[in-house]
Amino acid sequence: TLGWGLIGASTIAHEWMIDAIRAQPGHTIAAVMSGDAQRGAAYASAHGIPGSTTALDDLLANPAVDAVYISTTNELHAPQAIAAARAGKHVLCEKPLAMTLPDAQAIVAACNAAGVVLGTNHHLRNAASHIAMRQLIRDGAIGQPLFARVFHAVKLPAHLQGWRVHKPDAGGGVILDITVHDADTLRFLLDAEPVEAVAMTQGDGPVEDGVMAVLRFDTGVLAQLHDAFNVAHAGTGIEIHGTAGSIVGRDVMTQRPVGEVLLRTAEGERQVPLVPHDLYAHSLAQFAAAVRGEGAPAASGEDGLRSLAAALAVVEASRTGQRTAVRLG
Ligand code: NDP
Repeated sequence: TLGWGLIGASTIAHEWMIDAIRAQPGHTIAAVMSGDAQRGAAYASAHGIPGSTTALDDLLANPAVDAVYISTTNELHAPQAIAAARAGKHVLCEKPLAMTLPDAQAIVAACNAAGVVLGTNHHLRNAASHIAMRQLIRDGAIGQPLFARVFHAVKLPAHLQGWRVHKPDAGGGVILDITVHDADTLRFLLDAEPVEAVAMTQGDGPVEDGVMAVLRFDTGVLAQLHDAFNVAHAGTGIEIHGTAGSIVGRDVMTQRPVGEVLLRTAEGERQVPLVPHDLYAHSLAQFAAAVRGEGAPAASGEDGLRSLAAALAVVEASRTGQRTAVRLG
């Protein structure tokens, strides 16, 4: 059993995570915290959550809360995660783990010091498509990986534009919102770490709404990324090109358990069989196992930190026009 406290009366919890938590055997949601008492109470009642509060301390003092799921706007993740760790609660935090490296490091340190599990909810690692692609690469199906291309230009639905495009201090723009997922997914697929970035952005609003970037990995792989908030019809995907073959994932940079994976080698092209499952339920199952002492979350706190570091290098590269090293501290 695991009792959850939700920090943030968010869309992602409403659309995905509440159902995914309740799909775990023995998991319950004890309370939700919102900055607005009325909205929090309405959210709790709409989702059958027994408690709602505006005080983080209340939520953290609730004995029915063993773990928190943090899905507030990005600038709040660090103080909330650190407070939860200090209260002895396990922490599953949304991405980006924080908005700065020192904040992300402080979250990791607080969770280590408290001996609680820290996971970052980079959902794409949990997709059947990405798990299959990673296995193919590990099995040598494409030889040595040389290049990757990520297609993650999407149109933000109106109800998700808010702070993402209007509050730079809360969202951080397309790079902290989407590029951070690309970096994490590539780290997962390639078993490699990004070491430097070049990038250019587009958009004249409060935050950038489109970016094209290249990351170089410590294995020599070059990865080209295209992320946007304002492109409705591109479709998403990822390609990994190696010395002996190419993997093409279509419609796989998404929250839904959809998409297809193709493997092309000298033998021709074949579709890789996939048995899709809910990404968020998979993430929670792995987090719960880690709480039981079995394995690690799909994306750990360290993963959240490293993927953020790559995204911040892309931000810096786009602002300075310089090739920028990915720094962890
Ligand atoms: P939302 O805008 O839905 O929620 C963020 C905060 O905004 C909430 O905590 C809430 O504050 C406030 N809020 C939400 N709806 C309303 C409303 N109707 N009126 C007033 N305030 C509102 O953001 P998302 O759910 O899209 O994102 C939350 C976090 O999750 C972010 O860190 C984001 O990066 C991440 N995310 C991750 C995804 C993934 O697949 N891993 C996908 C989408 C988002 P309060 O709690 O104070 O009520």
